Amino acid sequence: MLERIRIVLIGTSHPGNIGAAARAMHNMGLGDLALVAPRCEPLTSESISRASGADHIVHAAKVVETLDEAVADCTLAVGASARSRTLPWPMITPRELGERLPRELAGSESRVALVFGREDSGLSNAELQRCHAHVHIPTNPDFSSLNLAAAVQVLAYECRLASLSAEREPRETDDETLQPLASHEELERYFAHLERTLVAIGFHDPAMPRQLMARLRRFTLRARPERMELNILRGMLTATEKCAEPHPAGAAKGRQNQTGQRSDEEV
Ligand code: SAH
Repeated sequence: MLERIRIVLIGTSHPGNIGAAARAMHNMGLGDLALVAPRCEPLTSESISRASGADHIVHAAKVVETLDEAVADCTLAVGASARSRTLPWPMITPRELGERLPRELAGSESRVALVFGREDSGLSNAELQRCHAHVHIPTNPDFSSLNLAAAVQVLAYECRLASLSAEREPRETDDETLQPLASHEELERYFAHLERTLVAIGFHDPAMPRQLMARLRRFTLRARPERMELNILRGMLTATEKCAEPHPAGAAKGRQNQTGQRSDEEV
């Protein structure tokens, strides 16, 4: 189970934190580390010394440019956040995360990513909206932000507890009935297709986005669609695109006059 959990660090600026995160991971039996656009050289004497024997994880870390690349094959992405955001997203505690893991990782193609933000500014809203859920480590509300590697340690510990209890009490497996869930990459392709179609039919005006795409993302991610279900939705979008007359950009504005109501406020 632990082999299919990836720790993703975005925009890390201190090599020591990368080393310390690798140590925390190895202590808990995790080994898959991805670094998204690190703002420092990951392999330095400081990262090696803070890894304290877990430097093979830093050496093997996959360095990529975007969060999408880092989690493309993951069927669940959970963003770790110290703060609450304007558009509330499903929130879980570290313990609830651990409790979900055995089921989340039951399918042979399933993979989980735990996503951590920058030391100075955390995760952006756009990054958090690419995650299915957010996990908040309950801390002192007056001093809520943990050091990056300490946050990795807490969640890695919950992963270990979950894996130990899954070993002790193996679940009744219902693997035959489990259909593969859509991966992050498939979901992102769907969201791009959805946005294109909504623009084409004049429902969505990217110049006045409000929170339409964010709300549709939240709704879709909450449903945890299977790959097959997403394929049906994409087929529907393709058929809709074929029926749609070409719409000039900003056509959603035109609809406002006809209906007296803005389309992106209707949702
Ligand atoms: N100053 C930043 C926090 C940076 S801490 C901010 O205000 O958002 C670096 C990262 O550690 C965060 O992006 C988050 O992924 C993780 N982290 C720190 N404290 C956390 C907490 N209490 N719960 C969940 N994640 C936390």
